[in-house]
Amino acid sequence: MCIACIEFIKGTLTVKELRNGLVEMARDELTRDQEHHLIEVRTLAEKNENDPEELKKKLQGPRPKD
Ligand SMILES: [Zn+2]
Repeated sequence: MCIACIEFIKGTLTVKELRNGLVEMARDELTRDQEHHLIEVRTLAEKNENDPEELKKKLQGPRPKD
């Protein structure tokens, strides 16, 4: 989980701000894992853009791959 996710879960960011944050982060040099994370979160944010609570649950939920 990255700073954008943490802030979003805390309620500091809206879904729109979270997505903007992901765009900002994508400008930096990223590891493969970070890149994968950004894509994953971006996809979830798109699917749940009208349901922030559901998105929070998904971001916090167990990730079987970890
Ligand atoms: Zn994140």
